[in-house]
Amino acid sequence: MSVRIKTPNLDDIFEKWKLQSVRNDKKKMEKQFGTKGAVFTLDAISAAEYVKDTQKEAAIYFAIKKTVGAVPKGTEEKTVLAPKVPRETFYSFKGTSKVNKENWKGDDKVPTYETIQAVSCKKCNGKGYIEDKCRICKGTGKIEEKLGILTGEEQKKEDKTFSYSCGVCYGSGTSKEPCRDCGGHKSLYKYQILPVPYKTVVTGIPVLHSSAQTKYEKEIERDLHQMIEEVEGIRFNDFKELESKAEPSLGYWNKNIKKTISSAGSDFKTYDKDKEAQITTQIYLFPMIQMFCETKKGSKFEIYSLGSANKFMIYSNF
Ligand SMILES: [Zn+2]
Ligand SMILES: [Zn+2]
Repeated sequence: MSVRIKTPNLDDIFEKWKLQSVRNDKKKMEKQFGTKGAVFTLDAISAAEYVKDTQKEAAIYFAIKKTVGAVPKGTEEKTVLAPKVPRETFYSFKGTSKVNKENWKGDDKVPTYETIQAVSCKKCNGKGYIEDKCRICKGTGKIEEKLGILTGEEQKKEDKTFSYSCGVCYGSGTSKEPCRDCGGHKSLYKYQILPVPYKTVVTGIPVLHSSAQTKYEKEIERDLHQMIEEVEGIRFNDFKELESKAEPSLGYWNKNIKKTISSAGSDFKTYDKDKEAQITTQIYLFPMIQMFCETKKGSKFEIYSLGSANKFMIYSNF
């Protein structure tokens, strides 16, 4: 057996709306419903006169708890030439508090300053250069050239050797070429790209699906999250139960309600499978009444009620 929930009376909804509207903006109420020359009174404004049409709809609500800011997994390491280090943007979280993911403008993983490390070049053994025989003096450190001398009156030709120190290797016989691996900087530099240390925040998220085409869904959702005890609905422990009992519980039915239940159901399943989410409430089914109204001045507006005859809340675009 399903418990049939009693929907609020149209006059009660309208009454609640009148009181709320006069509290919010009395001048507007007087302008839209008052009579010139007569004392303005709420009693003269009746649902029978100003509600042109009503529609019975339904809404489904549940709340979830989600852990936001789980630390992204994995680290990455980069090895670069020395001049590339100052060209990278490094981050540091040393001694700072954990990061609120919602305020963070940047990647989930970033190059971390504290991980920068010099690694001695293997190719040149950390010297920065490769030693080789000087190509000019062939490793001798000396340049030897023939020097022609003309001797005496006869100018007798004689060859001597003239040797001088090699100007390329400064007489050492070896030349030093910058190492191609480290660019002559002796070391390569490695650093890690680490996950930003996010703060884990557990937040409650309300989820509302309504069959009425209303732009107040987000507002109702937020309000329900805070005052769930003040609105009466039918509670279910699982969606199967809701699906089978929704129609007899509400006592009315339409295509949109059916569609809404099915999309809320798949939403529910998604959260149920999500490891970071946890459903924290039962599933509530609320009767929803949508009233299409028109003021004395001809302005159109709508009133929505959510909940049972005992406990309901209202929204309006008046
Ligand atoms: Zn040389
Ligand atoms: Zn090297």
